[in-house]
Amino acid sequence: TTFTDLGLAEPILRAIEAQGYSQPTPIQSKVIPAMMADRDVLGTAQTGTGKTAAFTLPIIHRLIGRGRPEPRKVRALILAPTRELAAQIEENVRAYAANTRLSSAVVVGGVKPGPQERKLARGVDILIATPGRLEDHLRNRVMTLDAVEVAVLDEADQMLDLGFIPAIRRLFRALPSDRQTALLSATMPPEIRRLAADFLSNPDEIAV
Ligand code: AMP
Repeated sequence: TTFTDLGLAEPILRAIEAQGYSQPTPIQSKVIPAMMADRDVLGTAQTGTGKTAAFTLPIIHRLIGRGRPEPRKVRALILAPTRELAAQIEENVRAYAANTRLSSAVVVGGVKPGPQERKLARGVDILIATPGRLEDHLRNRVMTLDAVEVAVLDEADQMLDLGFIPAIRRLFRALPSDRQTALLSATMPPEIRRLAADFLSNPDEIAV
């Protein structure tokens, strides 16, 4: 398959071409069609497989393909275990959404909350966050999750190792129940399987 075969919108195809990607990686060939078909996804994938594009490209496709019913509200939430990974994911989102009007932001700890709050107030479509600082912003009513259409949990096994599963469960419970959800993990320990069973709806299981 090619990226064109996957049916991604033209502005996304141009961004992929600018990145110099000639064809989808195996995980992309499976995850992109599943997410474009509105399926939940439980994916086993290591870093280096192209997993970030596998979930960010269909998110961008989804958000440009429909109207913007709730201006200034986050429509896609990507949860990452570390600041570094969150920053990396946002860099990817920016590159792939370069030909669109979608905006993104990163919400992580270790930096002052003020700039993040101002950015959220200006309107963010795609938010990449670590769990702790996101919960702070929710508690302080800086933002809500009630317009989230798609949620991604990346590197779930790292979340487990860092003790973030209780926070993840609280965050998932705060999301609209009719959202789409994808969970990616390098390994599938029982705790992550249970999390998936509790918060994903009949997911496509994809491993590469
Ligand atoms: P990831 O597994 O998401 O950390 O991605 C690993 C690397 O592969 C990143 O540097 C991406 O820019 C790159 N990449 C992602 N998709 C493709 C593709 N289809 N072809 C070539 N490189 C890619």
